[in-house]
Amino acid sequence: MSNASAAVEVHEFKAEMKPLLHLIVHSLYTHPEVFLRELISNASDALNKLRFRLLTDTNILQPEADLAIRITVNPETREFAIEDSGIGMTREETIANIGAVAKSGTLEAIKAMREANQQIDSNLIGQFGVGFYSVFMVADHVTLETRSANPDSAGCRWESNGEGSFSVSDIEMPERGTRISFILKEEFKQFASASEIESIIKKYSNFVEFPVYLDGERINAQQALWQKRSSDISNEEAAEFYGFITGNHREPLGWTHISAEGAVECKALIFIPGEAPPVDYDWREKSMHLYANKILIQENSKELLPEYLRFVRGVADTPDLPLNVSRETVQSSPVMTRLRSILTGKILGILEDWAKNDAEKFMKFSKIFGAHIKLGINTDYANKERIVNLMRFESSLRSPGDLVSLREYAGRMKDEQKDVYYLSGDSRATLKKNPNLEYFLEKNIEVLLLSDPVDVFTVPYLGEYDNKHFVSADKADLKIEETSKSAENTNAITSLLSKMREILGDAVENVAESKRLTQSAATLVAGSSGLDPQMEKMMKLMDKTFTGSKKVLELNPNHKLIRNLAVLAEENPNDPLIELCARQLYEAQALTEGNQIQTADFAARMTEIMTRATER
Ligand code: ADP
Repeated sequence: MSNASAAVEVHEFKAEMKPLLHLIVHSLYTHPEVFLRELISNASDALNKLRFRLLTDTNILQPEADLAIRITVNPETREFAIEDSGIGMTREETIANIGAVAKSGTLEAIKAMREANQQIDSNLIGQFGVGFYSVFMVADHVTLETRSANPDSAGCRWESNGEGSFSVSDIEMPERGTRISFILKEEFKQFASASEIESIIKKYSNFVEFPVYLDGERINAQQALWQKRSSDISNEEAAEFYGFITGNHREPLGWTHISAEGAVECKALIFIPGEAPPVDYDWREKSMHLYANKILIQENSKELLPEYLRFVRGVADTPDLPLNVSRETVQSSPVMTRLRSILTGKILGILEDWAKNDAEKFMKFSKIFGAHIKLGINTDYANKERIVNLMRFESSLRSPGDLVSLREYAGRMKDEQKDVYYLSGDSRATLKKNPNLEYFLEKNIEVLLLSDPVDVFTVPYLGEYDNKHFVSADKADLKIEETSKSAENTNAITSLLSKMREILGDAVENVAESKRLTQSAATLVAGSSGLDPQMEKMMKLMDKTFTGSKKVLELNPNHKLIRNLAVLAEENPNDPLIELCARQLYEAQALTEGNQIQTADFAARMTEIMTRATER
């Protein structure tokens, strides 16, 4: 909404800004100094963008101006100002960038985290692209003046008290870049003391690749951390740097420094985050940052990492890319292919090291990022074997969350066991109740419980492990020995089976006596002609209307219900109870498998059976 006056235009904040600002101010009040970090970070981004543009285009405003960040404070008046000679913003960009949230869904993501009781604190706020607004914690009124680096640009002033609206107006501004100024609230006057803020920003601004001046005095050392020798980089510095580049100021799970020489030279700092990306946040858009000779060429460079490893953060720097590269040439450069393979190898190496030497850390990693790793086997054929060894699964022989590797599974296999058994389903809890598991539990044979949605997309690709095939525990022709002797009344059972075949007809491939059930009355297993059960689940995920191939209904001859029905079938094959029970047994199993049934018919049959059961 804009005012009629041409000089000063008033805009309402986007609807979601209000609750967002409120959330930010209330989440961060214990760490008011966060605003400094965010403002410096924005200034540094703006300078990086300018420097990158300068590589190919000198037709910009003041191409000679030095690239720096200047902070000035006045303890008497509590005035604070920060300016950079970066890329600046046009009036349109200012309105679009400062007054709206860049990514849709940000508010939802933050709220979801709050509701999940995850603390939204100063450590995470920088990840959401809302850092600028943290100034409203320490100031009631903020002025931002900016002029774009385009040669024909004009200056623009943005002002707001961070409540409902902001105003923009044209101004005279001789220099390109951005200046943000405000008067600190009385209770935050410490940020107008030079010595006080120097200590806060010194450590942090050491990672800024441009000089930072405080009241005219240079305060940062400005050395690219990844250029140091590995042994000279402390854990603390690394963690600090991780916060600087990701906006996530929590400790990473691990990090490493790489200095590679050979066909392609590369120095890199690699970080594995300690938590999953925020809910709904698109981690695929993130990646490591690419530098060429200490100049930032591309943030979140997708070419640097294969998609399955994009949760990894950090920087990679190579002298082997030409400096005047465009983003397009970066994408097609053979140097990128080499870099990607170096980084991939190192990342897998860190994980292998944890798997071997730090089980606790690797377990933590697997719970957060295991699904990502599993996706790698579909795309990274060169590293398939390494990835397979990094995969972890829930197991029927272990408690929930105690994941096992295929190597452990194979090592524990019984002598007579030929295959690796698995069962897939929605959750571990439902899998544990699956009747098809009864046999294996009784015989103490391990079954991998695949409840991670990506498992369905990975196990079929594995084919075999260590010359052992993967076999679903719900396949009809499992070569298993009988659990216990069949019921005595074999004739009766035979009549029941044929009667039920007649009733169920086309709905099933067959009705057969089960060798695998020990407790349940019936189960459905994959038919001999059917698709691999795992494949079927994949099809169902992709196509909700896919019903799957016909199944075999197996009956447990030792279950009381089946024995009673067998007697009935022999004495009076036309007793309506047989048909009612046949359909009910089949549909109940189909339902548990996630197939659709006619629920009204099911309910009606249920009532009929209960009526008969209660007759005296
Ligand atoms: P983020 O920096 O994470 O995107 P912010 O709310 O801090 O989120 O900033 C929003 C946007 O405003 C930035 O993405 C950038 O386009 C623009 N911006 C902020 N500060 C500056 C600056 N000093 N110079 C140029 N553009 C800026």
